[in-house]
Amino acid sequence: MAAQAHNHQHCIRNALASAERVCAERGARLTPLRKRVLELIWESHEAIKAYDLLDRLGDEGGSAKPPTVYRALEFLLAQGLIHRIESENAYVGCRHPERTHEFQLLICDDCRHVEEISVAGVTRALGEQALKQGFRVSSQTVEVHGQCPDCRSASGS
Ligand SMILES: [Zn+2]
Ligand SMILES: [Zn+2]
Repeated sequence: MAAQAHNHQHCIRNALASAERVCAERGARLTPLRKRVLELIWESHEAIKAYDLLDRLGDEGGSAKPPTVYRALEFLLAQGLIHRIESENAYVGCRHPERTHEFQLLICDDCRHVEEISVAGVTRALGEQALKQGFRVSSQTVEVHGQCPDCRSASGS
């Protein structure tokens, strides 16, 4: 999806509303700080690093200490509200927090836009091949780097 060609306020509203809903259903506490961290992550579809979140919270005059912010990130990850991009050591909001799901991430190396896709069978295929080699998978994240449609048209590639 093109980064500019959608109503992003809509994305943010949706994300916060689903977060409230899934946390209420699970009896998980979406504290004001956790919610604010989620909101900051959702400010764009770009990957954001923990220290950028800390900077933003600091600018707002908050007194959030790094451990508090890391705990908020752990909570959001555990609730499936965000995904961690291992290759970037950064975070992005998840569009489907209400269910556990297979996902792969398309990461633009130019603008850092991250698109979550769900290609059926990838997780199973990797798991099966690993098992054939006697390897038991405990976790896997498929991160695909490249250039997004916006950056491709901008660079004419
Ligand atoms: Zn997701
Ligand atoms: Zn891009």
